[in-house]
Amino acid sequence: MSSGSRRGGDGRLTAALDPHDQGPQDQCGVIGVWAPGEEVAKLTYFGLYALQHRGQESAGIAVSNGRQILVYKDMGLVSQVFDEATLDSLTGHMAVGHARYSTTGRSTWQNAQPTFMPTEDGSLALGHNGNLINTHELAELVAALPGKSKGPVSTNDTGLLTELLAYHPDSTVEMRALELLPQVRGAYSLVWMDEDTLYAARDPQGIRPLVLGRLERGWVVASEDAALATVGASVVREVEPGEMIVIDSDGLRSHKFAEPDRKGCVFEYVYLARPDATISGRGVHEARVEMGRQLAREFPIDADLVMPVPESGTPAATGYAEESGIPFGQGFVKNSYVGRTFIQPSQTLRQLGIRLKLNALEHMIRGRRIVVVDDSIVRGNTQRAQIRMLREAGAAEVHVRISSPPVKWPCFYGIDFATRAELIANGLDVEEIAHSVGADSLGYISLEGMVEATQQPARQLCTACFTGEYPIELPEEDLLGKHLLEASLSTSELGKTLPVLNNP
Ligand code: SF4
Repeated sequence: MSSGSRRGGDGRLTAALDPHDQGPQDQCGVIGVWAPGEEVAKLTYFGLYALQHRGQESAGIAVSNGRQILVYKDMGLVSQVFDEATLDSLTGHMAVGHARYSTTGRSTWQNAQPTFMPTEDGSLALGHNGNLINTHELAELVAALPGKSKGPVSTNDTGLLTELLAYHPDSTVEMRALELLPQVRGAYSLVWMDEDTLYAARDPQGIRPLVLGRLERGWVVASEDAALATVGASVVREVEPGEMIVIDSDGLRSHKFAEPDRKGCVFEYVYLARPDATISGRGVHEARVEMGRQLAREFPIDADLVMPVPESGTPAATGYAEESGIPFGQGFVKNSYVGRTFIQPSQTLRQLGIRLKLNALEHMIRGRRIVVVDDSIVRGNTQRAQIRMLREAGAAEVHVRISSPPVKWPCFYGIDFATRAELIANGLDVEEIAHSVGADSLGYISLEGMVEATQQPARQLCTACFTGEYPIELPEEDLLGKHLLEASLSTSELGKTLPVLNNP
């Protein structure tokens, strides 16, 4: 078996999600495992399983046995991409794993990660969580690499990073990374490897989480500590903003490649991270419960039942019920087996799709005044359908409480909400939104209340999607966007852009 990347056996291609129907979508989950003597591919697989919520479009694992790197990736959930036989064939002493949701570049097999790139003295595989904002500059750097023919080099920011790291004619990958990373702007939690060494790095703002863990005979770096717990690793610490970690047979060493200027994504606390994660010392579940308590203080209402939109609204609903004294109950049943909703082009089909996943429990709802707690409203379509479902089940009143402020601005650091024009809170005030979704009342937690619940200093958080104050300066609008590197390409060209990564 030669080095390179491979596609899943049945060539399965899963239809892309309509992300806007589902609320905010995270970009990715990453994990790196250094564990000589262990089944690293299986450890990585279980770690990815724990990170599945961070990306459901594609999954991949790269392994190195010290002589060669092999990447296996495909479209779909981690459990759809890998089976026992595949994992058994991925042998080595270290691995990099990735679960993707696309924010730059289309959701295609070519753009699935880890990305793979041969170098002059070996090869490199890389996984990225986040989104870069100087992609146009990196594309120029790649185009200027010696021996690089003109034309498109990649259709996502991660491919560019991989190419730039792989080019190190007069230095090591480690030195090349220390030179390159200060030039990269945006959100990036990276895990990558060459044949001998595992690397991890986090942007100076630490927008996305990244944690370091210890196995009995090795190390793990992962997007969330829940992945460490899943593979039996103990948490050592966060990878610091502006830090690069290098792990090889000599052990672990750390480099500071930039001064930290911490601006962690507040939405990780609200919705994105798993509830059992701890970010910057604050338990995510506890933060969400506190957001619910705060919501009850800010927007009390006389009602008979507090119910969550499962699962993400559950901790905040618990907090709201505790603080208000209104009984907590489940009014929706969620079908846990519907992992993905397929493309639904029309509004009618979108609403049918929601019912695939969620159904109302009529005996809990009929005749009652309901408080429904959810984490966010993006376009409002989901809430509109849910409220209609509750009314059809006989709710006397429906009061909606949201544990984040109105989302008015897009995110350029790795979360796909919608375009600004599509955000319901961009054009309507709270009363108009309540009317639009059919709620009897609507209350969003205040920015201050949400930030306080995270127990982080406000200056150390990114809150740009609520305030429009972007902590990393953005380039001109035409240099941003998911399809920046694809805009000038025809469909047939897109298929030709990554000959190396397409290597079967
Ligand atoms: S803009 Fe919003 S979602 Fe994006 S990083 Fe900032 S807080 Fe998080």
